[in-house]
Formats: sequence, structure tokens, C-alpha cells
Amino acid sequence: MSTVTYSYSLLANRLRDIDALEGISGLLGWDEMVMLPTGSSDSRGKQKEALAGVIYDKKTDPVLGELLKELHESCAGLNEVEQVNVELAYKNYIRATALPKDLSQRIAALETEGYHAWIAARGASDYSKFAPVLQEWVDISRRKAALIDPSQETYNVLLDEFEKGMTATRIDEIFGQLRVGLVPLIANIKSKGTAPDGSLLRGKEFDTKAQAALCEVIALDLGFDITKGRLDVSVHPFTGGTGPTDVRMTTRFKAMDVTEGLTGAIHETGHSLYEQGRNVYPDWEGLPVSKALSMGVHESQSLLWERMVALSKPFSHYLLPKLQTSFPDLVPTSTTPEALYGAMNLVLFPSLIRVESDEVTYGMHVVLRYEIERGLVEGKIKVEDVPAIWNAKMKEYLQTDVEALGGDAKGVLQDVHWSAGAIGYFPTYTLGAMMAAQIFQAAEAALPNLSESIAKGEFAPLKTWLNENLHCKGSFYRNADELMTAVTGRVLDPNIYLSYLNNKYTDLYKL
Ligand SMILES: [Zn+2]
Repeated sequence: MSTVTYSYSLLANRLRDIDALEGISGLLGWDEMVMLPTGSSDSRGKQKEALAGVIYDKKTDPVLGELLKELHESCAGLNEVEQVNVELAYKNYIRATALPKDLSQRIAALETEGYHAWIAARGASDYSKFAPVLQEWVDISRRKAALIDPSQETYNVLLDEFEKGMTATRIDEIFGQLRVGLVPLIANIKSKGTAPDGSLLRGKEFDTKAQAALCEVIALDLGFDITKGRLDVSVHPFTGGTGPTDVRMTTRFKAMDVTEGLTGAIHETGHSLYEQGRNVYPDWEGLPVSKALSMGVHESQSLLWERMVALSKPFSHYLLPKLQTSFPDLVPTSTTPEALYGAMNLVLFPSLIRVESDEVTYGMHVVLRYEIERGLVEGKIKVEDVPAIWNAKMKEYLQTDVEALGGDAKGVLQDVHWSAGAIGYFPTYTLGAMMAAQIFQAAEAALPNLSESIAKGEFAPLKTWLNENLHCKGSFYRNADELMTAVTGRVLDPNIYLSYLNNKYTDLYKL
């Protein structure tokens, strides 16, 4: 065995240990959200803290640093996958060790302080109570970015944590095109559209136990592997667990709106299928190359199933008989798949709250947040001016008057992200939505009978195609554009997403 090969095997052992410990951490987190008895939270807090300390020590171990430095300087003899592992682990090590202890401690404390300040500010609908926290996060983010990679623009370093290899310049290009296409479509739907009838699925009581049972059937039909995961109910739906061999997915249900539980469950199933599908090659297991490429790519997998599949016409043929069996008094036998499709696809005005918005208006909620957070870290927007800028952009992009509809609480204070310093996260939602449309288009080209299969409830061809073309690629590519090129033949193209929305809603809203 050569020195390089030997060093690499030592590195791989260390990285697999870290991965296993992170799996345990994921399991503790799932347990806390789903199972933990109310009297156990203090002891659980201590267990989590102790484990986090062990993981931190392993990730910042100088011996690991030495190994990485040696392999990063000379990787001759390593194959391509091994080189990717070295590159990714090296980057993770730099991130883990770049910050001095006092800054790391301040960040941990500010996450808690920021959360409480945000809750109080939102309760009072008073942004001025939150502004000092946001100012500190902006200052910390600048300092953090300069320590991690002083050669890069601040926003790029922040973005890279969530969307590997993405740059602000590229997002400007993508979101610029999106804004030009989406703002007039939204205005058109609002002024000229005829909304489908949504009453079939809202405003009456859908038993939540029956909803949970139905969603379990759907998750299994879509391909969730119950021998490598669990389905449970939690207050905030999420997908977690230890990794590909044990994916813990949770959902929640609202009695008065069956669409929320349904689309939420299908969304989380999409995340789960990606997780279960990324563990294919034994020599990748537990190593950085096997991980999800980015938050945006992860979101592309949840949104592909939620929007491209579940909000499509063919899916309503599969869903309708199931809804009629589960809710015979609420979904009459005379209902047509077309009526169900219409009810599933309402554009909701005013579009005030991001998480409650539909697929058409959602994108502009994200563009607005991106423009503001980037302006903040670049010093072009002052913290005290954020609410005024927010409200003006809401009028311009979404024709929504925040001041008249509830002020700061329903405007600038609606999301938790900035309170935890997550600057650079928002763009991943909409990048994911655009990727989903483009990936689905490629799947349609590769699987000529895809619509018919979906209508019949045969989802295996699509799931297998995603497994083989996307899930198993993990983090092998350097960024989402490279992955998109490998999967769809071209870099992310916002026009595919825009045509999808234009065609669908021109037809639905009779524009
Ligand atoms: Zn998601």
C-alpha cells in the first residue's frame, strides 16, 4: 500500500466515524421531536451537548487536519471519487476550524437569544425589537465569511454552506430571469384569472387519522422503503434519522384543509426517497461524496414529487378514488379528476406568508428575501430600512400591502431563518423548485409513458430513474449546475420553470 493510499484509508475511517456519530445525533433529534417524554428534556439537552462536543473534537482534530493537508497537496494515486472525498473533507475542516472559540460561542448564544427576540418582536409586531439581533448577525456573518475564505465575496461564502458551489453572480442571473417572467404572470392571474373551485378540499372537517392513513399509503406507493425508515406524526414535519439506511419522516395534518397534510407528506416523501437512494456504492458509504449535494438539490427532490407529480393532472386520477374511499361523505362519487386537479392548484391572494403561498407566488417571496439579505451583508441596505424595503418589494412583486394586512409580524418578521443567522439559505428553496421542473422534464423525455404510469399509481419507473440518474450521484459534482448538466444535459435554466408555470396556469386560470 502506498503512503497516499494508506493516508486515505486513515482519513476514510475518521470520516466514517464522524458520520456514524452524526447519525446518532440525528436519531436523538428525531426522538426529541417525536417521542421524548416531557420530563426528559433536561437530560436530553445534556446528552446532546456531550455528543456535540465529541463530534466537534473529531471534526477539528489536528491529526485529521494533518492528514487532509497531506492528501490535499498530493493526491496522485487516488481515484476520482477519493479525490472528491479529500476535497470535500478539506473544505469541511476549514469551515469547522476557521472561527475562534469566542466567536463560535457567541454564535451559539445568539442563536438562542435571536430566537427569543424574534418570538417577542413577532408577538408585538414590532421590528425594532428584532433589529439589534439582525445587526449582530450581519456583523458576525461578515466576520465569519472573511475567516473562512477571504478571497471570496461575503455572500458567496455564506451561500456555499447551503448551496455548494453557487455564487451570487449566478443567482443574480437566474433570479433576474425569474423576476422578469414571474411578476407579470402573477399580475395576470390576479387581474384576469378565473380561479378554479377550491371548496372540494377546504372548509370542511377531514378526520386527521384518516388523512394520516391515506398519506401512509401514498408514501409507500411513491416508493418509501419502510424497512429503512419510519413514518410518524410531529408538530413540525421534517425528514431526519441516521442516514440512508434509517430515514425518519414525519408529517402533520390540519382538519380543515386536507391539501396541507397531503402535499406536506408527499414533500417529505420526496426528501426521504433522495435520502434512501443515495446509498448505492459500498465504497462511498459514510463519506462526504455520498451526501446530498446541497439544500437546493434536496428541495428539488421534495418539490419534484410535491409539485411536478402530486399537483399534476395525471396524479388526480390516482388520488381521486383514494380520497373518495377515505372521505366518502366529503368527496362525492360525482367528483371528476379535473375538479380535483383544479382544487389542488389554487393561487392564493393576497400572497402574504411564504410558507402558505402557492407554487406561482412562492418564487417571488424568495427573490425578495435574497435581495434584502445580500444587500445587508454587502452594506447596501441598512438594518433599520429593512421593513420599508420589504413592504415596497411586496407591493411591486406580489401586489400585497403588508401594512394594511398585519404589519411587521406578517411581513419582515414572518420567517425564523434570520433569527438563527441563516443568511444564504432562502435561495435554495426556489433553486430547488426550478431544478425540479427541469429534472422532471428530463424524466418525461426518458420515460415516454410517465403520465400514464402516474395516473395508474405506478411510480416505480420515475423513482428508479431518479435513483439511477440523480440520487446515487451524491456530492460527486461541484455544484448544482454540474449535476443538472449530468442529469438533464444543461445547466439550470429558469425558462423551463417559467414555461411550466405559464402553460399550467394559463390553462387553469383561463388567461
Ligand atoms: Zn423541503
